[in-house]
Amino acid sequence: MRKILFTLSLLIYSNLLIGQQAILRNTTIESMVREVSSDSLKSYIYALSSFESRHTLNTDSEKGMPAAKQYVLGKFNEFANKSGGRMTAEIEEFITPGDGRRIPSDSKVANVVAWLKGTDPNDPRIIVVSGHLDSRNKDVMDATGAAPGANDDGSGVAVVMELARVMAAREFPATVVFVAFTGEEQGLKGATYLADKAKNEGWKIEAVLNNDIVGNSNSSETLISNNTVMRVFSESIPLAEDERGAAIRRSTNSDNDSPSRQLARYIKEIGERYVDHMEVKLIYRSDRFLRGGDQTPFMRNGFTAVRMSEMNENFPHQHENVRIEDGIQYGDLPEFMDFEYLRKVAAVNIASAASLASAASKPQEVRIDVRGLTNYSRLHWKAPENGKAIGYFVLMRETSSPVWEKKFYTTETEINLPYSKDNYFFAVQSVTEDGAESLAVFPSPQTR
Ligand SMILES: [Zn+2]
Repeated sequence: MRKILFTLSLLIYSNLLIGQQAILRNTTIESMVREVSSDSLKSYIYALSSFESRHTLNTDSEKGMPAAKQYVLGKFNEFANKSGGRMTAEIEEFITPGDGRRIPSDSKVANVVAWLKGTDPNDPRIIVVSGHLDSRNKDVMDATGAAPGANDDGSGVAVVMELARVMAAREFPATVVFVAFTGEEQGLKGATYLADKAKNEGWKIEAVLNNDIVGNSNSSETLISNNTVMRVFSESIPLAEDERGAAIRRSTNSDNDSPSRQLARYIKEIGERYVDHMEVKLIYRSDRFLRGGDQTPFMRNGFTAVRMSEMNENFPHQHENVRIEDGIQYGDLPEFMDFEYLRKVAAVNIASAASLASAASKPQEVRIDVRGLTNYSRLHWKAPENGKAIGYFVLMRETSSPVWEKKFYTTETEINLPYSKDNYFFAVQSVTEDGAESLAVFPSPQTR
């Protein structure tokens, strides 16, 4: 009872103090955030970059990609010991077909995957946290030359491993999948394989948190140094949008409210709530300019996915051969990384993933009543399919605002607000007793 009252008082305060979300910290998530260690992350990165090359087509089982996969699998299995049998890990092999581009002929490659099974057998939701294990140097077809890949994407894999380590000992109703993809540099091969499999088998993926290049805090050329800001990329118009979806988007002007954008806002709010001195910047594009990443195949298959990345990139340390030229050291080496920055990125990931995996599922059939002309906005919805919501946040923002500005808490499944739907955007998320919020759902119009 005390716990419930405590939670409720926090929820009510949050109405008044939106913007000062530190008061909403859940102690379990807070302790997971504290367990994320820059020393652990550093040890993974030094180990990963000690393999000569993690190129997708590298076959050196002593010093190359096969050995790197065994290393990640070994760590996953070590972490799984704390999970009471709920975490299992494997090297999942598959044939990636020759494509006449970056895969010369059909090749056997593999992702390294760990599953932390949810504690609710009736809850099908899956949260994916990913990075890519493969690395490259200047020549993307050079499968044997040195390619330490400390930051691209040893950093993303280190985040995945650290989340697996800390989360293995914890219980969540939803399942969390930790993936080190192969073949990102050869054309998103590992992510395409898993995203297609997930679609074919009907996996209920709630969110994909893809981490790619997340451990450096200073820019080349412009010489900015700042370890207090990171980016989350999210698509505006869903890649998988069909004609009906497009028609609804145009009529509701919801081009800034895709599920991927809601996930990005969620990561911003939860990340900044739990991680001090880290701003999560929303970038309104699916990836860097004209580029893609392992989140792309998931978006293409209709899943909600985002890419996390560092704010300031250092290009002499990406996709370059390790060498000294004119007194400048080139190459993706661990000595150029900022492990305190990486710790904060991992902390944003764990707060978001743990919060999603603890939450009830999203409210269902969220509608906004548009049957009559009124300056009120009435929304209604149904309880989530999985987990127990004790209430709901109805979120509101100005049409020009990037983030939700006001939250109304209710224990009902409808609300009638004295704000016109012509002037604001709304969404609804479910809230559990522990204060974990689901992703927000943008309402569809109720016309009859
Ligand atoms: Zn990368």
